[in-house]
Amino acid sequence: MGTRVVLLPGDGIGPEVTAAARRVLDATGVALDWEVREAGASAVEAIREAGVALKGPLTTPRDGSKPSPNLALRRELDLFVQVRRCRSADGSVDVLVARETTEDLYAGVEFAVAADAAFALKPVTAAAVQRAAAVVRRYAAASGRRRITIVHKASAIPVTDGLFLRAAREALAGCEVDDLLVDLAAAECVKAPARFDVVFTGNLYGDILADLLGAVVGSVGLVAGVNLGEGIAVFEPAHGSAPRHAGHDRVNPTGAILSGAMLLRHLGEADAADRMERAVQQVLVAGEQVTYDVAPPGVEPASTTAMAAAVIAAL
Ligand code: NAD
Repeated sequence: MGTRVVLLPGDGIGPEVTAAARRVLDATGVALDWEVREAGASAVEAIREAGVALKGPLTTPRDGSKPSPNLALRRELDLFVQVRRCRSADGSVDVLVARETTEDLYAGVEFAVAADAAFALKPVTAAAVQRAAAVVRRYAAASGRRRITIVHKASAIPVTDGLFLRAAREALAGCEVDDLLVDLAAAECVKAPARFDVVFTGNLYGDILADLLGAVVGSVGLVAGVNLGEGIAVFEPAHGSAPRHAGHDRVNPTGAILSGAMLLRHLGEADAADRMERAVQQVLVAGEQVTYDVAPPGVEPASTTAMAAAVIAAL
């Protein structure tokens, strides 16, 4: 019997990229028992039991009419850290961006005080920062990473970001750690991204830096990720549901496939994860069977299905 893995295809391009990732994962020969669920209460229960899931993106209505289903899932499962892996095709840039995901300006505490004035609160607690930092420390060590850079803006926001910095430094004592102001970190992401190994930061800065690094490495479609809690890991690509591309079999499945490789590593299948990552790199470097977002000039873009098939052939 294989390892039970819950599969949430998501919506928009989610079903296409997760199907591609599932095919590649199955082609590694690792026995996985897929349990397909739609997002909702039954998915939450299944993930809690299995402890591991591969998830496609879920659309959040832009008008704020409904709460984000992603946020709801993270809250239900108490997933308090997100790690995104931003890696260029040739591996010259390979950064893990880890962020605490329960606090900060994304906690949703904002209110209008008048028709033309509003406030947002930025909750930060040492307990949440240290809980997240402990998981990041373990994850970084298990991934063979060396240096953790704490990103903050303690110079301008000394109370909340100052607390984040102190709590993170304390929790990461004994690791190789440095820290950087978020504006300088953004500049470094563009000028010298290879200087970063692991970034640990708050919810908002982490979201922005991971997207920035996604662009730096060539496409948000390349970025893989995982949401971690105690004993639960939900793997998902960094990109969203890209509704205008849905159903056209043309988006990049790499983020979902590499999230699958992270999932295998989590299950202790390091050899299979290595093989998957090498196969993806081979296909990206060859640049022949790749989707529109990373296709070299003059090369006809491949479909999602064709790119996944090329990865399987390279396995
Ligand atoms: P998006 O990532 O869905 O798309 C932005 C653009 O990036 C696309 O138009 C496309 O050009 C490109 N892109 C994204 N994924 C790609 C891929 N795999 N291959 C090639 N190109 C790709 O971001 P958005 O438009 O801001 O969000 C759309 C919806 O997704 C929103 O409802 C948002 O809330 C949701 N979202 C969900 C998640 C999640 O489920 N974890 C994450 C981010 C956004």
